Amino acid sequence: MISRRMQKMVAGNSVIRAMFEEGLKMARQYGPENVFDFSLGNPNVPAPEEFKNAIIKILQDVPPVKVHGYMPNGGFPSVREKIAASLNKRFGTNFNSENIIMTVGAAGGLNIILKTLLNPGDEVITFAPFFGEYRNYVANFEGELVVVPPNTINFQPDLVAFEKLIRPQTKAVIINSPNNPTGVVYSEETVKRLSSILEEKQREFSSSIYLISDEPYRELVYGGTEVPYLTKYYRNTLVGYSYSKSLSIPGERLGYVAVPSEIDDYEQVWSALAVANRILGFVNAPSLVQLAVAECLDAKTDIAYYGRNRDTLYEGLTKLKFQCVKPEGAFYLFMKTPMEDDNAFAQAAKKFNILVVPGSAFGCPGYVRIAYCVSYETVVNSLPKFAELAASCGL
Ligand code: PLP
Repeated sequence: MISRRMQKMVAGNSVIRAMFEEGLKMARQYGPENVFDFSLGNPNVPAPEEFKNAIIKILQDVPPVKVHGYMPNGGFPSVREKIAASLNKRFGTNFNSENIIMTVGAAGGLNIILKTLLNPGDEVITFAPFFGEYRNYVANFEGELVVVPPNTINFQPDLVAFEKLIRPQTKAVIINSPNNPTGVVYSEETVKRLSSILEEKQREFSSSIYLISDEPYRELVYGGTEVPYLTKYYRNTLVGYSYSKSLSIPGERLGYVAVPSEIDDYEQVWSALAVANRILGFVNAPSLVQLAVAECLDAKTDIAYYGRNRDTLYEGLTKLKFQCVKPEGAFYLFMKTPMEDDNAFAQAAKKFNILVVPGSAFGCPGYVRIAYCVSYETVVNSLPKFAELAASCGL
């Protein structure tokens, strides 16, 4: 018999993953060109050439013991040093290798942070809509996820509601910008207000409240939108980054956590993160990929590719009278469902071979998420199907 805790987690298994499996089944049944699978954030842009070339060169030039061996739990110091230097250049930070810990993607990063910070019953606040896996990550360490209801006017966080939810047992706040599922980038004004609320609450409760900035989509922005670098606004910030989307290598599982020296209990937090990497069974982030990524820190994904998908989809859907939030970043479009029940709408879409994820999975019913990190043909060919769907909903 599996554990009670896992019984719950299996029962609430990711809607997104379930959709993905269904998409594969439908592709076999109807042919892949006839299925419009917008369910998963699996980047369609290939990984940059630099990444492949770096791997080949490393395998040819670097001794196998170094490439394939164990290393410090925090990752190769040389790789961390390069990442720190790159962040310093881009964001004016003051990092060195002791401020970067290599992780198994953003998911691994969030889990080691939460393992490091949470006692049972501690609260972690996040803002709806949010990446649904946060629920599981927080539950992994017996924390409680507290959700600030969505601000459906512009999907910036509702900071008035937020302030009221902060309590002495609030240990951390997770924010994600550019946001999955809305594509919204939190403005500098939002970041400043959020930071000053947290500063004030830390003073009021004489506590440390850590801000966890989950930012796998930092590089994916349109029209030069600025994404504020959080450590500059709030001292107790930990940044969780991932190369999954920026280099299109989600299966390779690489990211890092940036831990500024200025945070409360820096030494302890740093050591605990490294130990958490080990005892959660990651041990260290994948070695070959660390070495390869260090050689292509300036490589960029083809943002124009996603931009064209975004524009075509947004224009196509709004023409059909669907109400959509225009994404400023990431590769997701959040669309209001013409019927109240987003699950029923996602089911209705399936009849037209369109797969989208109900907003309920992100704590925001009444919407669906459309992941447009697919081929341009998929976007273009889906529009007549969306037109049929719109008509069937009386739009
Ligand atoms: N956080 C957010 C907001 C995400 O959208 C994802 C993946 O889609 C992750 C974390 C996990 O990313 P990774 O594949 O790097 O673990």
